[in-house]
Amino acid sequence: MENRTKRRPETEIIHSGYHPDPFARSVSPPIYQTSTFAFESAEQGAALFAGKEKGFIYTRLGNPTILALEQALATLENGYAALATASGMAAVSTVYLAFLEKDAHMIGTAALYGPSRTIIETEFVRYGVSADFIDTSRIEEIEKRIKGNTRLLFIETPANPTMALTDIKACAGLARRHNLILVVDNTFASPFLQNPLELGADVVIHSLTKFINGHSDVVGGAIISRSEQLHNRLQKVLRMHGGTMDPHQAWLVLRGLRTLHLRVEKAQENARKIAAWLESRPEVAWVNYPGLSSHPQHRLMEKQMRGPGSMISFGLNGGYEAGLRLINNVKLCTLAVSLGGIETLIQHPASMTHASVPAEEKEKAGITDDLIRLSVGCEAVEDLIADLEQALEKI
Ligand SMILES: *Cc1c(COP(=O)(O)O)cnc(C)c1O
Repeated sequence: MENRTKRRPETEIIHSGYHPDPFARSVSPPIYQTSTFAFESAEQGAALFAGKEKGFIYTRLGNPTILALEQALATLENGYAALATASGMAAVSTVYLAFLEKDAHMIGTAALYGPSRTIIETEFVRYGVSADFIDTSRIEEIEKRIKGNTRLLFIETPANPTMALTDIKACAGLARRHNLILVVDNTFASPFLQNPLELGADVVIHSLTKFINGHSDVVGGAIISRSEQLHNRLQKVLRMHGGTMDPHQAWLVLRGLRTLHLRVEKAQENARKIAAWLESRPEVAWVNYPGLSSHPQHRLMEKQMRGPGSMISFGLNGGYEAGLRLINNVKLCTLAVSLGGIETLIQHPASMTHASVPAEEKEKAGITDDLIRLSVGCEAVEDLIADLEQALEKI
């Protein structure tokens, strides 16, 4: 980790992780597109493998371009260190593989990213792992589910796609008392709006595919740990299972990251206006956006986030049918899954991102059939509102 006085997040987003390299002084980091690194001698190779000397051996074990991204992410989340992974799901599965032994139990947010939940229910069950996916915004409910074999408390806040918030500080207190590892999926907020490690979490994960890369052109993930011990455990598992990142992928994500604050601020400003506009429309039954004073956890948002972000979910009075007509009639908003890019995306979680969650569980998690998810981008807000308006008029 770089050691210097703390600068503001906007500055760190632009500068952290890389300094002009000593060889060519390039301002943009070089892409070390190599699988392996030459040793100076047999003795040096042995010293690197023994961990007696620091250096690069093989790209699955480490690479300077990937390290630049990892150092930037560790700085932005104020962690001990970061690990870049092939995808957000590689980050999730590495966390599960590292901390869930045979017959272990975990507690997770009911409205988790679909596959983060499904992988436990369909794959990790084969190793006897069990889980309770519950409404983690109710702290007392979490405590009731803790058992002797509970290892992990895995929360997503804001949650996908309900926009329900979980109190990170309260969860950290609970995790300390019961010796659980608290993991926060911070994808929806990005490190610019929320820093779970500062609120007591042990590990933060990101799908870099979303806000951090921000241009809908790369898939990637990251794990940032509070301590050396947690980092070492995760690094060992990641290197062996091999869900590591590629240097070119790391370079692209680092390039996207440098404008994170500009994109997040613009998209958030747009989302605030769109959420208020949606709430005023007669066709709209409900709007979930933590920036609205009508959101049940608006106060918690102000407490643990720097802003409400740019993800909105809403439902229409005409329910599912009206929602389908809306998403089939938008022209500027793109009908696609994923989120956090510069372009506005619209989708229907119950039949798309969360299709793998059983119907009854979806209902319990608040992923209703009428829910439409909007990832607001950086376009002119007037054009976005005009597009949604013409689509609403076709219902
Ligand atoms: C997309 C997403 C993931 C998974 O990331 P991939 O990069 O698609 O593997 C995990 N968590 C959340 C909240 C996500 O939105």
